[in-house]
Amino acid sequence: MKKFDVIIIGAGPGGIFSAYELAKKSTFSVAVFETGHRLEKRVCPIDGDKVKSCINCPVCSIMNGFGGAGAFSDGKYNITNDFGGSLHEYIGRGTALELMRYVDEINVSHGGDGTKMYSTAGSSLKKICMQNKLTLLSASVRHLGTDINYKVLGNLYEELKDAVEFHFDSPVEELSVAEDGFTVTSRGETYFAKKCIVSVGRSGSSWLEELCKKLEIPTNSNRVDLGVRVELPAEIFAHITNELYESKIVYRTEKFEDHVRTFCMNPNGIVVNENTNGIITVNGHSFEDPERKTENTNFALLVAKHFSLPFKDSNGYGESIARLSNMLGGGVIVQRFGDLERGRRSTEKRIAEGTVRPTLSATPGDLSLVLPKRILDGIIEMIYALDKIAPGTANDDTLLYGVEVKFYNMEVQVDEHLETRYKGLYVIGDGGGVTHSLSHASASGVFVARELLKENA
Ligand SMILES: Cc1cc2nc3c(=O)[nH]c(=O)nc-3n(C[C@H](O)[C@H](O)[C@H](O)COP(=O)(O)OP(=O)(O)OC[C@H]3O[C@@H](n4cnc5c(N)ncnc54)[C@H](O)[C@@H]3O)c2cc1C
Repeated sequence: MKKFDVIIIGAGPGGIFSAYELAKKSTFSVAVFETGHRLEKRVCPIDGDKVKSCINCPVCSIMNGFGGAGAFSDGKYNITNDFGGSLHEYIGRGTALELMRYVDEINVSHGGDGTKMYSTAGSSLKKICMQNKLTLLSASVRHLGTDINYKVLGNLYEELKDAVEFHFDSPVEELSVAEDGFTVTSRGETYFAKKCIVSVGRSGSSWLEELCKKLEIPTNSNRVDLGVRVELPAEIFAHITNELYESKIVYRTEKFEDHVRTFCMNPNGIVVNENTNGIITVNGHSFEDPERKTENTNFALLVAKHFSLPFKDSNGYGESIARLSNMLGGGVIVQRFGDLERGRRSTEKRIAEGTVRPTLSATPGDLSLVLPKRILDGIIEMIYALDKIAPGTANDDTLLYGVEVKFYNMEVQVDEHLETRYKGLYVIGDGGGVTHSLSHASASGVFVARELLKENA
């Protein structure tokens, strides 16, 4: 049986930054097991020509492989404790911010130099938001863009590949507690490690759930966020995106006092399909490369739904709603805001006559048949609230794509070291429900690596 000091399961941002820190600061033998392919082999077959929609590959290249779910993301790297996860609740606000800044420095030195850092500090938008019943959350954000993000990942891999043993196309099937460590089984081989870091992200949630059941590690159910992706001419939001790039704005609805928030803003970007367990939802990207910029800006409007007992399956609820949109539209549905307000579906003709050219080929339809009334009412109220700070948001031709769903993993019980009830078994990143962003997941990876270094000191 091959033995390592540390085995890391998952090569997303969490796993990569654990591996990076261990490779740089220790002589530990480290292996990383990853379900998906190496970076350059990660290719989604959707080409918009021969393959127009998801064909449910056995391993999704968008979600799995070196770089994890973030590899083809917009690479918006937020440095804040206000959103992106609750890492600070475990390791402290100061440490969390310090680690996020540290990862940012590594990204910058591995190809991200020249990218811009935006900040809400001193922004006049804060006051304008307050005056219109909106709250602008505080953050600094580095926008790497999908292209530079990919370059940074490539450079990190080049630097790590000789110090760390990477096993791609190697899902871990079994993890068991052994004497003085853990055994891990992948592709019929069993490996031993003294310490094990589990960083399996959203796509590894079912596997992790089973593992927690087997090892009797307590978990708590979590929330689901539901909503739409808004697409409008970039000029309408330009005064906000030019200054802040990504702004997280929260609105408390008058009708139900629910919170609706903006999420994942992509100036001059594109709207894309996202496949989660075979269900097609919507997301967005943008590029640093001027040639790939579009005339539109997109962002999500999301409402968080928390459930109380006896219902525990918040992700199942989100999936059912997304399935409904797939049933009606064969995938993502698009609707003009004016059509939604008039209580009618959008058609190819109405979309074509509109002034906003859609960047995603979606099925024109009626989102009121999909989203629960309370959520849709909240989104409509928010669009009118945003219209006050960005006039034109509530134009008839503004496009709404649905549904956008943000699934959260159940929270795995870990202590302030991100260690489970088994000494030496750590759960980090989105998989454990503690983080939901590139920055928090990466920071959790560095944090645990440093915990191992401390123990060995
Ligand atoms: C389209 C898209 C855009 C996004 N944009 C942004 C953004 O701009 N900014 C931001 O902050 N966040 C963004 N996110 C979220 C961000 O990507 C995640 O928060 C982050 O990747 C989480 O990192 P992680 O390491 O915890 O998990 P992941 O990145 O999900 O990585 C987990 C890895 O573990 C592997 N794995 C799973 N199970 C196993 C197993 N049993 N054995 C071996 N390997 C396994 C998976 O294949 C995967 O590669 C985006 C996400 C998506 C999908």
